[in-house]
Amino acid sequence: MNRSTRLFVTLGAATLLTLGLWSPVATATAAPSPAPAAATAERDLVEIPAKAAVRQAVTPSECAPTLLNSYVNGLVADMTTEQLTFLFAHFDTLMDVPTYDALFFGTSGDPDYALESHAHQLQNTFRDLRRFWDIESADIQLMAMHGDVLLDADRIAATLTAMVQARVIAPLTPAQIRQEAETVAAFMQTQGDFYDNPLWTLNAYAFTGEDETNPVLAALPDKLVFGDGILAAYDAIGLGDVGPRVIMAHEFAHHVQFELGVFDTGPSDPSEATRRTELMADAMASYYGVHKKGLALNQKRVTDALLSFYTVGDCQFASPGHHGTPLQRERAAAWGAELAAAAKPRSYVIPAATFIDLFEEALPGIIAG
Ligand SMILES: [Zn+2]
Repeated sequence: MNRSTRLFVTLGAATLLTLGLWSPVATATAAPSPAPAAATAERDLVEIPAKAAVRQAVTPSECAPTLLNSYVNGLVADMTTEQLTFLFAHFDTLMDVPTYDALFFGTSGDPDYALESHAHQLQNTFRDLRRFWDIESADIQLMAMHGDVLLDADRIAATLTAMVQARVIAPLTPAQIRQEAETVAAFMQTQGDFYDNPLWTLNAYAFTGEDETNPVLAALPDKLVFGDGILAAYDAIGLGDVGPRVIMAHEFAHHVQFELGVFDTGPSDPSEATRRTELMADAMASYYGVHKKGLALNQKRVTDALLSFYTVGDCQFASPGHHGTPLQRERAAAWGAELAAAAKPRSYVIPAATFIDLFEEALPGIIAG
């Protein structure tokens, strides 16, 4: 019995409809073009791949299931009917708040955002990456995001308020925000460790406010945020030693791109632009992963770690969040690894700007066919 069947049996189609599941599913699976900008001014600041994976867990999809899907399916299957019903009634709050709480309020010195799982490994890799790439990186704050924010009505309310102000979500009144925050915190407090479910933090992301016109966003420091969920997921598939480090290298690559202004120089089509920067980040992560001065790992382990959970959105070619097909991502990673293996002398690291120039030349071959 597949996931969608189980859910229909559990909840019934009518319940799902009233929980508002259908409209997000339509945008997640059909969406030949991005949502019209005129219809809504809201925009995501952080892509949250687990949202699509949860939707795929409950609806049939033509997309081949990825490791991320399998992992999410398992998390969904372990929920009680009560938890599942609550999840769909408060989907965006549960899936967004830990991410945006860290984005708006997290600092690297605050114990609420301290790395717990894999802390030393991540701190060491972060330090190494800052040495490896020749960019200004002293201002990047490394921190964790934890699900425990969902136990705290005040923190949830503050995050939803900031999300409204930054136009991530549609306007809500203070009373609506208060009610939603108290409902979610009260439920979580009765549900054991459900607040710590990897689903709420199944991500890592890089953020800069540099080009933001919204003053709230522009004032935020550069960040590299690691969720407990993505670390738990890598541990669960036996890639806990390599995965977090390689993912950090991918996210750090986005900071290299921010510093070098690479986001403004790509294709105008949003999905092509995203594919280019994502494949470039894969190539940079793989270069660092294989390079003698980087992680000095073998290419296969790096590629496995890079592609396992980050192979998301494969069927959403028109989505601005599209990361490239698995084949393209594999080629990008292989290209970066070969460049590292060819370094002469072995310890020579090319300047980031040169790496990017070489990647631009290689990109047509990487995306061909
Ligand atoms: Zn990325």
